[in-house]
Amino acid sequence: MEKTERYVVGIDLGGTKIAAALFDSQGNIRNRERMETANAKTAEEVVQRLVDMTRSVAGGLPLSGVGLASPGAVNSKDGIVLHGTNLPEWTNVPLKRWMGDALDVEVQVVNDANAAAWGEYVRGAGKGAETMVYVTFSTGIGAGIVLDGKLLLGATSFAGELGHTIVEPGGPACSCGNNGCWEMFASGTAIRDSAAELMRSRSSAIADLAAAQGEAMSAKHVFEAYRQGDGVAVQVVDRAVSYMALGLANAVHTFNPDRIVIGGGVSKAGDQLFPALRDRTEQMVMKPYRGTYELVAAGLQDDVGLIGAAALFHAS
Ligand SMILES: [Zn+2]
Repeated sequence: MEKTERYVVGIDLGGTKIAAALFDSQGNIRNRERMETANAKTAEEVVQRLVDMTRSVAGGLPLSGVGLASPGAVNSKDGIVLHGTNLPEWTNVPLKRWMGDALDVEVQVVNDANAAAWGEYVRGAGKGAETMVYVTFSTGIGAGIVLDGKLLLGATSFAGELGHTIVEPGGPACSCGNNGCWEMFASGTAIRDSAAELMRSRSSAIADLAAAQGEAMSAKHVFEAYRQGDGVAVQVVDRAVSYMALGLANAVHTFNPDRIVIGGGVSKAGDQLFPALRDRTEQMVMKPYRGTYELVAAGLQDDVGLIGAAALFHAS
């Protein structure tokens, strides 16, 4: 007898938007929906929307699970979002139980960076690797680790916060309460801020590039100026690449990955970034690690969270 096709719904829970998609067992997206969370007042209200959205996107097809990617601190074992989203009253929300009860289906909840790491591992640039370190350089630094083919969660499922490893004691204050975290030196925000700092005393094309595009200055414009040989941009990018490499070298020493996957806005600098980042990382790792890992750009785009959350079911 032919086995009935089972589907999975993947949900990416953002601060302002919720995206949901229906996946078949091959991992293809068969249906999708997006929704604003702006006027939701309570956690119950948001969860009711998640339930409605799941039913709507599934359209009556049989589900084997619902995978949710949530920002902030998540207890994946019990499926509870502890805190850290921009949603109302979003503290200790038992998503797994509430949604599981309403839908009568298994629900898994994972932190968004871990979901993205798993998505890249199963369907993106991490495919075929054994141990993968995923790092996304954007506003902050997100990271997730796949160790020997398994998503590393840790005792309380907070593993992989590489962005908050301290690389400079006494460095700039981070939102986490510590000083000198990696993301204070190597994130897109850090790149923008150090360019702005230098531009107080030196002229640079960065501001003009941003103005010409009618955008607030960001790391993107720093990389554009870097391409033109702008002095400030060259100094800022060189420093950022050194710090990125420092953090990656720490990760290589800790996890001994065969692949490092780089995502986030900063990774779009591609040709400007990757050769230099590979060289600097290779210089910083100890000899036995040299040549043992690939450093590649992420393969999935905005759907990475959804894909990773859904793949918590299909890949297992
Ligand atoms: Zn921090």
